[in-house]
Amino acid sequence: MKGGKLIIFSAPSGSGKTTIVKYLLEQPELNLAFSVSATSRSRRGNEKDGEHYYFMSVSEFKKHIKNDDFLEWEEVYRDNFYGTLKTEVDRLWAAGKNVIFDIDVVGGLRIKKKFPKETLAVFVKPPSVDELKIRLKKRSTESDDKINMRIAKASVELATAPQFDTVIKNYDLDIALKEAQALVLEFVSPPTPKGSVKKS
Ligand code: 5GP
Repeated sequence: MKGGKLIIFSAPSGSGKTTIVKYLLEQPELNLAFSVSATSRSRRGNEKDGEHYYFMSVSEFKKHIKNDDFLEWEEVYRDNFYGTLKTEVDRLWAAGKNVIFDIDVVGGLRIKKKFPKETLAVFVKPPSVDELKIRLKKRSTESDDKINMRIAKASVELATAPQFDTVIKNYDLDIALKEAQALVLEFVSPPTPKGSVKKS
């Protein structure tokens, strides 16, 4: 596998990372394409297969694990498997794109370990666990049980922040968006050769 850059956005569910990733995808100068993950969780609302996720059964997912088709995979919640197919990154790199991921902290750090030079791993920090709960309830896409499961996981995930290349605090969305854009732009831009003078 060889190609462009990999940009990881990881955070507890409800931190706003999906909003940040969507915003970055709209910035043409970043030349990003979204890595569509495979998942065994059921489809929510108007999610489309092949666009938001590649939806599949648990047994189909396990078959891919056996075939070593994943760059990384994780049972993020019980019986809810998520993973990045190697073919997905190959496809986007072949198209000349930098690949952006919206994945959980464990998966994010695994990719960083596999591609240390090519990867920028960003952790998005929410203001507090209480604020996360409020955001997840407002979103009202999950049952109370599922929300509690996500909240329980959030504290563990927050402790992994120091292992990332950088942490963005999402306390004010506009500021977080601009900060993310500047960070990614710097990472994907080719370095200016030493001794070269910028043309005015
Ligand atoms: P959701 O069910 O809300 O779409 O996602 C649940 C969690 O799974 C989120 O933290 C999301 O970032 C993560 N996730 C999505 N795709 C992947 C993936 O390919 N690998 C891993 N490890 N986590 C993923």
